[in-house]
Amino acid sequence: RALALAGVRDLTPYQPGKPIEELERELGIRESIKLASNENPLGPSPHALEALRGHLGGISLYPDGNGFALKRRLGELLDVDPACITLGNGSNEILELVARAYLEPGRNAVFSAHAFAVYPIVVQAVGADARVAPANPADHAMPYGHDLDAMASRIDADTRVVFVANPNNPTGTWLDEAAVHGFLKRVPDETLVVMDEAYFEYVQADGYPDATRWLKAFPNLLVTRTFSKIHGLAGLRIGYGVSGEAVADILNRVRQPFNTNSLAQAGALAALDDGDHVTESVRINTLGLAQLTAACRERGLGYIPSVGNFLSIDVGREAGPVYQALLREGVIVRPVGGYGLPNHLRVTVGREQENRRFIDALDRVLRG
Ligand code: PMP
Repeated sequence: RALALAGVRDLTPYQPGKPIEELERELGIRESIKLASNENPLGPSPHALEALRGHLGGISLYPDGNGFALKRRLGELLDVDPACITLGNGSNEILELVARAYLEPGRNAVFSAHAFAVYPIVVQAVGADARVAPANPADHAMPYGHDLDAMASRIDADTRVVFVANPNNPTGTWLDEAAVHGFLKRVPDETLVVMDEAYFEYVQADGYPDATRWLKAFPNLLVTRTFSKIHGLAGLRIGYGVSGEAVADILNRVRQPFNTNSLAQAGALAALDDGDHVTESVRINTLGLAQLTAACRERGLGYIPSVGNFLSIDVGREAGPVYQALLREGVIVRPVGGYGLPNHLRVTVGREQENRRFIDALDRVLRG
């Protein structure tokens, strides 16, 4: 351990949940539901599944290392040249490529408190400094959300990257058009702004910006998105970054030649053109969010208003034991103490019946 970088020794290991079968065996339960990782409760698009089946015979060959067909289609949809796109093994890999290409010891990256857990991992893994800006206070309209003024004031001559999650996980808070545009204008040209839009397609809030509109004006902007959430393809591991050509060229230099596999590329391509699946996923999510927030209000439970496919609920006590008790009820959610929110549980929005089961289980647990 002593031989590892100091920043790596300081990291708290990312704690993924146990496999569902293992949990069920351990706890002696059956038919549990998982609302823990912000996955799509509708599953993947049937078109994506069909494409996967059609490509199974090809897996003895290496994938197309440049993801030609997928980048061409993304380019059409985003109205950019394919040379502006970087494909990643999940959008997490894009975040990692950013750190590898732009950070080193002596440089730093700025992000907010309560921001997505992967930012410190990728920054500290390359020996750079993670500068955590304070977030909005609990009584703010966007509680625990990013405070862009605080973030901007943490930027100095050694800051090469700023990570902004819009919306953020696990808070579900978001930033409007004026705030993001103002921030982009403030950040020095030498600092890359990563707009992490993993939940972009879910957001229904008026004034929520599509940051790709600013790509031409700001060559230091990179927008990341994923097929893991709305498209229901988390297990395939595929996401992308869109930026100016110069940034994409840099990121593509440091990635592994075959970082996205052929099934992932085929599934993603088919998913992109299944508008019905996207629309239905958004509809179910909007209903489910309303169902969960109404249940919180009826019970006097606080929650962080969310525009994503998850909700962080203040259970009014340490959330770890509540999480454990929910597990025994067969409901798997996520305590977010590791994000500096010790009393919050993050629940992924499920279908109506799943949300109902979570609410009923939470009632039993909080009563007991
Ligand atoms: N950004 C945010 C804010 C996320 O919540 C997630 C998924 N948990 C990701 C990026 C990465 O997702 P993936 O690597 O599956 O694309």
